[in-house]
Amino acid sequence: RAKQDGRGVYRFFEQSLDEAARRRRQIEADLRAAIRTGGLELRFQPIVGTGDAVIRGFEALLRWPHPIEGYIPPTEFIPIAEETGLIVALGEWVLHEACRVAADWPPHIRVAVNVSPLQFRAPGFQAVVLQALARSGIAPTRLEIEITESVFLDGVDAVTDILHKLRAMGVRIALDDFGTGYSSLSYLRSFPFDKLKIDRSFITNIASDESAGAIVKAILDLAGALRMETTAEGVENIEQQSELVSRGCDTLQGYLFSRPIDADAAMALLALKDVALERRVA
Ligand code: C2E
Ligand code: MG
Ligand code: MG
Ligand code: MG
Repeated sequence: RAKQDGRGVYRFFEQSLDEAARRRRQIEADLRAAIRTGGLELRFQPIVGTGDAVIRGFEALLRWPHPIEGYIPPTEFIPIAEETGLIVALGEWVLHEACRVAADWPPHIRVAVNVSPLQFRAPGFQAVVLQALARSGIAPTRLEIEITESVFLDGVDAVTDILHKLRAMGVRIALDDFGTGYSSLSYLRSFPFDKLKIDRSFITNIASDESAGAIVKAILDLAGALRMETTAEGVENIEQQSELVSRGCDTLQGYLFSRPIDADAAMALLALKDVALERRVA
């Protein structure tokens, strides 16, 4: 009996593996079609000054409205795009589209674009960046490339070489999700990042959890000493904002100020010139 039960469980497990594999193949095929037919969208989430909540830039975030399933979150389809190599074409579209949209903004407003490891290391990545800048006409200093430290896993030297070339073009480089990796600190020695983005997991409990607060403080001190700008991710309430004001974080991003919004809504926000997205924190 026990044996039979075991087999039942095994068969169930096998079926769900099949199911998962089938879904991945389906997503891959549908994503390929979406890239070809223009079925992808970008949203833009404001990044604001910590004390004044005035917009300094936007992070471009990819959205995929699947014809049958509705919006599939990037955390589900981006790993599949990475595994299948689709991320290269996908990322190229994101760069072009983000720069094209940013070209309509006032020249002091930046656009941040996430770049996956495979895309970053693909031959021709720098050419794609140059092309996106040239076609849109935006100043290179307005483009900020966000990478995570996972990009370094396949060799620090090759990656720092690309980073230096991008920097030489005038593009800014941000280290995203800082604090979640295994050896964040050593990467700070390999390249002088323009910005550190402190991962949301530390911000969530910044006011209530002493250790989260201490870690954020340490990251901000470190960034200050290395002359890197800082952005706190996932700021959802005034308490977190106040905490980050008093600790000297430069910029904030999160639902407190705005969810990611479409290009028209971003433009409308910018038209309210220099308006603060939240009330000023004393
Ligand atoms: P990320 O780059 O760290 O982006 C920040 C994520 O946090 C976004 O999720 C954003 O919607 C979410 N977020 C912002 N403020 C808040 C908040 O106050 N509370 C909470 N709970 N969440 C907040 P999203 O758009 O689902 O993207 C998830 C991840 O997918 C991104 O994390 C990034 O790693 C990846 N991603 C998104 N777009 C792209 C893209 O164009 N290319 C690549 N390679 N990756 C992308
Ligand atoms: Mg990001
Ligand atoms: Mg992030
Ligand atoms: Mg993140």
